[in-house]
Amino acid sequence: MAAGNMKNHGKSSSDLSSKANRAFARILASAKPHNEKMGELLSTALKNNIPMHKLESYIDPESAAAARRHFIERTAGTDLSAIGSSNLDYSLISGKNAENVIGYTQMPLGIAGPILIKGEYAKGEFYVPMATTEGALIASVNRGMKAITSSGGVKTIVIKNAMTRAPVFEFDSIAEVSDFLAWVRENHEAVKAAAEATTSHGKLIDVMPFVMGANVWLRFSFDTGDAMGMNMVTIASEAACEYIESNFKKARLVSISGNMCSDKKNSSINLLFGRGKSVIAEAILEEETTREMLKATPEGIHNLNLKKNLLGSVRAGSNNLNGHAANMVAAVFAATGQDIAQVVESSSCFTITELKGRKLHISVTMPSIEVGTVGGGSGLPTQKEALSILGASGSGKTKGSNSLKLAEIIASTVLAGELNLLAAQFSRELGKAHSRLGRNKS
Ligand code: NAP
Repeated sequence: MAAGNMKNHGKSSSDLSSKANRAFARILASAKPHNEKMGELLSTALKNNIPMHKLESYIDPESAAAARRHFIERTAGTDLSAIGSSNLDYSLISGKNAENVIGYTQMPLGIAGPILIKGEYAKGEFYVPMATTEGALIASVNRGMKAITSSGGVKTIVIKNAMTRAPVFEFDSIAEVSDFLAWVRENHEAVKAAAEATTSHGKLIDVMPFVMGANVWLRFSFDTGDAMGMNMVTIASEAACEYIESNFKKARLVSISGNMCSDKKNSSINLLFGRGKSVIAEAILEEETTREMLKATPEGIHNLNLKKNLLGSVRAGSNNLNGHAANMVAAVFAATGQDIAQVVESSSCFTITELKGRKLHISVTMPSIEVGTVGGGSGLPTQKEALSILGASGSGKTKGSNSLKLAEIIASTVLAGELNLLAAQFSRELGKAHSRLGRNKS
């Protein structure tokens, strides 16, 4: 409920929250515990009259989720047995991945591939796990992968690897800005040492300043090993900012995140300077393959890419020049425990095609793929298993090699999806395929 509504009803938020707690307690008192132990735990929690988000302090995480689920079932008058049907370990989530947990959202998980990748980190054939509810998506990627693999595979390169945080400082006047910029340059090593003292894996690579009036943003870039790194760089940047404020007294930190990072938002800065892993994936297809496997011609795909992904996107005012990169990124992110909201910038993608002789060259350039194989949701059971299908779960043999491998696999999967979409639109199959696979109509 919005704060405004609470005021209109003449009640403070604490009145309402204790009212909610009483409703919670009343409904829980009628709960039928699954077993004796849960019954005992519940009555302990109820005796202590605790709010729903503090249940884990009194009872185990699974019982806490069951109790909250019961409350929501009664309050909403609905059945949540599917949400509660998972046999996963609730203690893995508590204090790490979600609060007020009542169960799991389950999504279909499919496999596309194999796709042959000749990358710097991903080498060989891969089956790629994709979680989606969009019928036809996996089939579409699968056909693109088949065509690419039979043409010799995808070549991938990583051109940059840096996770960013950009705190914003304010000053009394612009007179202090030049001194501050010079101080930041001269004290780089000390700032770096303060940041790196908070992490055994994070390394500060660069500090890029931006100025507006008497405000300065410092865009910190870190190598975060196999972690996506958002918590890591936030904690490290906080330590760096403390050092800066203590040693350059005229600088006042306004926010640890001044939005020039830029996290979970569409922005030009990530397109220009990258965020996370900046990856390029390219495939070269023979005319025969495009005709036989994709029912399209190299010229047709090239022309369609120009008119649709380049001209159409520009005419629409978009700076994201691709067909549906977000589809592949979202499905692999959901399957492998990535932060789903980062699909916003991770799906930034320039899809380009060129005709060389009778061959079609197609590539995707993706400046900000933000992924990790340790930390976040990557350690949860199904997500970890999905990463293990790719041979990319946990820490890599060399620093960051598993997360870089995952980024190359995602770019390759995007390439396959982009290629197939172009071919399907050329041969006018898109609607038919979705009707067949997304609506179960043959
Ligand atoms: P994290 O789980 O918070 O941190 C990674 C942990 O893994 C660190 O403790 C690190 O140790 C350790 N680690 C072990 N082996 C490692 C290896 N090989 N490479 C790198 N680290 C290794 O994960 P994170 O990636 O920093 O943050 C991801 C989470 O941040 C996600 O849950 C995401 O949703 C969330 N997020 C946070 C913010 C924010 O503003 N804080 C914003 C967006 C998203 P050391 O610390 O000693 O290096």
